[in-house]
Amino acid sequence: MNIILLGPPGAGKGTQARILEEGWGMIQLSTGDMLRAARTSGTAMGQKVAAIMDAGELVTDEIVIGLIEEKLEGDHGGGFIFDGFPRTLAQADALGDLLERHGTTLDAVVEMQVDDAALVARITARSTCGSCGEVYNDNTKPIPADGKCSNCGGTEFKRRADDNEESLRTRLMEYYKKTSPLIGYYYAKGQLRSVDGLGEIDAVAGEIAGVLG
Ligand code: ADP
Ligand code: ZN
Repeated sequence: MNIILLGPPGAGKGTQARILEEGWGMIQLSTGDMLRAARTSGTAMGQKVAAIMDAGELVTDEIVIGLIEEKLEGDHGGGFIFDGFPRTLAQADALGDLLERHGTTLDAVVEMQVDDAALVARITARSTCGSCGEVYNDNTKPIPADGKCSNCGGTEFKRRADDNEESLRTRLMEYYKKTSPLIGYYYAKGQLRSVDGLGEIDAVAGEIAGVLG
């Protein structure tokens, strides 16, 4: 099964993608994670996109489509969870073509609905484990009291450079202008499944399982 997790920054796409990976044997493909990895390893592409990402703007369709294309060459496992991709109509069209070329299709698009006030609160409280990427939140899922990641035991936690109010405002605007039209696009194709992303992590996971089941 191949699915897209669609929703604004902070909707909880990454958290739910990890649950789907564990429970369903699917493979998460996060363009945000791929771009951050390219930055850390200092590739030419990583350097090119760094300033764009920190400002909260979208990198070019060409770059992210290229990243996804590479991943589709590999092991397809129990299917893919596209997280943070597609973000534009051009990316959505390209994904359709790529999947077709690999002899597979998209099964569903899960739209995670969360209001803006909650997004800002979530993102400014967010941190991740430096070793495994487990996501924590100061209010709802704090780092364990012993200072060790509950998933891998790691002791280093990071906050993202773009998780500040100014670039968040740009990220939200980019979402409404360029990404939210995908809701209508996939609705018209009969693939849209909407869930309430405001509840607790397990409740949202249950809702997602429900619409995919
Ligand atoms: P968020 O938490 O805002 O959903 P991501 O981790 O998915 O963020 O992405 C971080 C940044 O990486 C984005 O603000 C954007 O600059 C860039 N990016 C990630 N995916 C894409 C994409 N599909 N198209 C264009 N830019 C992207
Ligand atoms: Zn960890």
